[in-house]
Amino acid sequence: MLRDPPLIVGNWKMHKTISEARALIDALVGLVGDNFEQGRFTVLAPPFTGLSTVAQAITGQPYLLGAQNLHWEDRGAFTGEISGPMLQDLGCRYVLVGHSERRRYFGESDSIVQKKAAAALRNALRPILCIGETWEQRQSGQMEPVLSVQLTQGLLGVDKHQAENIVIAYEPVWAIGSGRAATADQAAEAHRYIRAQLLALWGEDAGMQVPILYGGSVTPDNIGELLTISDVDGALVGGACLDPVLFAKILRVAAAV
Ligand code: PEP
Repeated sequence: MLRDPPLIVGNWKMHKTISEARALIDALVGLVGDNFEQGRFTVLAPPFTGLSTVAQAITGQPYLLGAQNLHWEDRGAFTGEISGPMLQDLGCRYVLVGHSERRRYFGESDSIVQKKAAAALRNALRPILCIGETWEQRQSGQMEPVLSVQLTQGLLGVDKHQAENIVIAYEPVWAIGSGRAATADQAAEAHRYIRAQLLALWGEDAGMQVPILYGGSVTPDNIGELLTISDVDGALVGGACLDPVLFAKILRVAAAV
């Protein structure tokens, strides 16, 4: 089976004002060029305040827009929240759900993550469901049960016919922003396990359709090796996507894999 080109997602987190966002895109486009095929598979996820600016800046460019969060309801009295239809309206195609920072700092449980994934699908947004174990969980042999629960609970109620709209990101919590990426063996083991879970859940055809991204201290130096691992279908990049030089290098390596 031919493998799709890797999907690279840049999570800007709570960084970049509007003028900084515009400058970042200009620099990235300048470095990558506008007919760079890899761009077709690159998603930029700025904060909510930057979505409109980034949407305009990438018009005619080979990038897709993603958001970092959404509410599980489509509208209502939820002060401060942003809904799926609003993201759709801005041109978003992807949305992160269950990022470990949302789980940790905003108390997002698996059941909230599940409702957010359902809201994304209902609004024609591809949820990027983030799952991953802490260092303590890994050390105590809990990696597989943690991944299994986060995956199956997050996808509860999702029909296998929607598999083509789902993206999973394996993000070991201890690797995020730490400069300590998973080794190739660690990533291979986790991705193999996640793929097996998807196959058990939805069967061969649907289970194989779901891209599994690796996230956690991805850099231009380690992206090449990570993308050669079976079942690593792309990357979720945090810190390095804020630097256009580093992100452009990551895209170039990914395009050549
Ligand atoms: C992330 O926050 O999703 C992430 C992977 O961050 P970093 O690349 O900085 O580890």
